[in-house]
Amino acid sequence: MPETTLEIRPGVTIPEHLVGEVRSKLAYVDELIGGAEISPAGDLIHLYLQRKPSADEIQALKEKTNRVVNLMARGVIQPKVEILEDRLDLPLPYRDDPLEALTRRHEIHQEASGVYTLGPLVTRLMDYFETRFLALANHFDAAPYRFPTLIPARYLSRVNYFRAFPHSLTFVTHLRSDLDVIDHFAAHAVADESGRINMPADTYASIETLLSPAVCYHLYFSLADRKLDSEYMVATAVGNCFRYESSNLSSLERLWNFTMREVIFVGSKEFVLENREASRQYMQTVLDEIGLAYRVESANDPFFIGEFRRQAAFQSAFQLKYEIRARLPFRESTLAVGSYNYHQDFFGRHLNISLPDGSPAHTGCTAFGLERLAFAFLAQYGLKRDDWPVAVREGAG
Ligand code: ATP
Ligand code: ZN
Ligand code: MG
Repeated sequence: MPETTLEIRPGVTIPEHLVGEVRSKLAYVDELIGGAEISPAGDLIHLYLQRKPSADEIQALKEKTNRVVNLMARGVIQPKVEILEDRLDLPLPYRDDPLEALTRRHEIHQEASGVYTLGPLVTRLMDYFETRFLALANHFDAAPYRFPTLIPARYLSRVNYFRAFPHSLTFVTHLRSDLDVIDHFAAHAVADESGRINMPADTYASIETLLSPAVCYHLYFSLADRKLDSEYMVATAVGNCFRYESSNLSSLERLWNFTMREVIFVGSKEFVLENREASRQYMQTVLDEIGLAYRVESANDPFFIGEFRRQAAFQSAFQLKYEIRARLPFRESTLAVGSYNYHQDFFGRHLNISLPDGSPAHTGCTAFGLERLAFAFLAQYGLKRDDWPVAVREGAG
């Protein structure tokens, strides 16, 4: 539990639209930090620390915090938020945080920070939402795929993932293939009270593989260095995704290990944009039947500090990302349950994927976080099936 608070007045005032984005990045400033808050006016930061810091540590915390604020907020202009659908004001029957009721009823079990076992209630809801996403995929005649949970470092490196999202990477390793190392491990390894294994770092092989942060990357990598036979393709897959979100990991809202369903479009610019829009329109009817209170609005990816300003401005300027943000009544805020993305020819160029005419392929995807959608639904309608909209009651009952 955090024990001390450090108050910092940043050199630059953080504009309102960036308060959440900067706050979430403060988790990565120092391992001493267990949480952070920023005043609504953006002129005061509270860091909650695991223990009392030394004078040198205070100095370092201030310097690093100011570095984050400077890089993300100095001279930044607020992008215009474009709202495409607005059903936030739908009347809803429930106002509590469903996490408490779910935990009390043993419907979920936390194994570690951001890692949960999900019981029948949440599982049936996620399965029901899956049927709706599969119908969306069928609407586009999407070809089904299965992708691995692991992803090679060289793939992610090739699409600059290490530069854009270093903070959220999750690495995979194994014991070095050396009999002495394995024997020593077998004889002495235990996880201590903190959950850590008591072995030195050189026990483990160097890292060539990570846990996959998204689904559609696997499709693009399978198309790399190829000329496509047809003008376009549509694919769909569901997969385990991993994003390490440090002390931001909380509840079913922000998981380390979560499930994403994607419908993926590859083709010309017009093809991808038309289908991204068609999938938004299709989902509008689905979300309506589910009874979700939400808004679809322009957004940007959570790029890391140094990359954030330029990349976020670029995404806004070219309308590359829209999010479905569901209302969370218990906290008077919203949570992204899905997104409609257009990558231009980024993957086409970096991975050398070309269309039959030789031009680089454009790509886009429609992506849904299954745990988040279930969580947002339960936050709006509660755990009693009788209170659920009829489509969900029948589909997930
Ligand atoms: P956020 O802005 O909330 O961090 P994101 O913009 O990074 O999310 P996308 O990259 O668009 O999310 O991923 C698609 C969907 O995957 C999101 O809309 C969300 O439903 C889900 N998702 C993303 N990160 C997480 C997470 N850490 N835990 C649970 N679901 C997640
Ligand atoms: Zn995608
Ligand atoms: Mg987002």
